[in-house]
Amino acid sequence: MPLSPEQEAEIADQRATPQPTLRAVAPGMEDHLYTAYPVLDHGFVRVIDYMGDDAAICQAARVSYGKGTKSVSNDEGLIRYLMRHWHSTPFEMCEIKLHVKLPVFVARQWIRHRTANVNEYSARYSILDREFYIPAPEHVAAQSTVNNQGRGELLEGAEAARVLEILKADSARAYDNYEAMISDDGQQGLARELARMNLPANIYTQWYWKVDLHNLFHFLRLRADAHAQYEIRVYAEEICKLVADWVPFAYRAFEDYRMGGATLSATALDCIRRMVKGEEVTQENSGMSKGEWREFMGVLG
Ligand SMILES: Cc1cc2nc3c(=O)[nH]c(=O)nc-3n(C[C@H](O)[C@H](O)[C@H](O)COP(=O)(O)OP(=O)(O)OC[C@H]3O[C@@H](n4cnc5c(N)ncnc54)[C@H](O)[C@@H]3O)c2cc1C
Repeated sequence: MPLSPEQEAEIADQRATPQPTLRAVAPGMEDHLYTAYPVLDHGFVRVIDYMGDDAAICQAARVSYGKGTKSVSNDEGLIRYLMRHWHSTPFEMCEIKLHVKLPVFVARQWIRHRTANVNEYSARYSILDREFYIPAPEHVAAQSTVNNQGRGELLEGAEAARVLEILKADSARAYDNYEAMISDDGQQGLARELARMNLPANIYTQWYWKVDLHNLFHFLRLRADAHAQYEIRVYAEEICKLVADWVPFAYRAFEDYRMGGATLSATALDCIRRMVKGEEVTQENSGMSKGEWREFMGVLG
């Protein structure tokens, strides 16, 4: 179960007591506040708080550009201009605070994004729940043969079943031993801060994660990307939906320039110019390595 009954009650309570406010509110985000959206088998993402909206981005930009912004009179045009020219600080005027429940091995990838504020569940102070990520059969795949950092063909039949059985049994045994070690029934009981080291990386943890919109876009650009591991990508994709409703202009610009766009090297740009002129450009005469050429062809579709 992604949410405990206590968390469900807390959410119902928070949603039942709206406050009038003079602060800028984004109607799309108000609809999401506190609601926990399930991710993986026991995880979730929910918005605890946010600050700013599309207008806040424009307001900040107009401070820095003053009269110069008059030439871009509509907010969406201004936001697209800012995104296009990497003028990122106005996006930092918006912030979001999320409550995320996620497996520890996903948290290890997530925490590499240093430009956020984090407060994690303490397994020194509290006992971890018996909740482990067990992949759905359609995500149990073999090591990729073309990408060292990824998975390839699905495991099938008996092999898939055996893998899932090992994952479940090891998780259960580790948790049984964790409980046995911390128990103070007829013994002193090992400290929780030590007993936890026996738990596998698929156990769930929780944290509050606060980040500004500029750095959130950077996170989403990397983690909602097809190259990101599936288990973190599904969280990023869920967050994308929230951001699309929170700051629709900024999200559309992000989709266009960052998610859907591509950065080209000077060599690649030169190849495009030669192609437009009708020249036959191949990997051999492009000045690119085989890997660069493959990626370049991928960008050109
Ligand atoms: C597909 C994929 C595979 C990966 N594989 C590996 C791997 O095998 N091993 C591994 O260790 N990591 C790996 N990573 C993690 C990756 O190297 C980054 O640590 C992670 O994506 C966070 O990116 P970031 O540092 O840009 O983000 P943030 O920490 O959020 O920083 C955002 C930006 O702020 C600036 N910044 C932040 N802190 C500093 C600083 N101290 N000094 C200078 N500038 C700073 C940088 O411009 C940075 O881009 C992988 C990431 C992805 C997406």
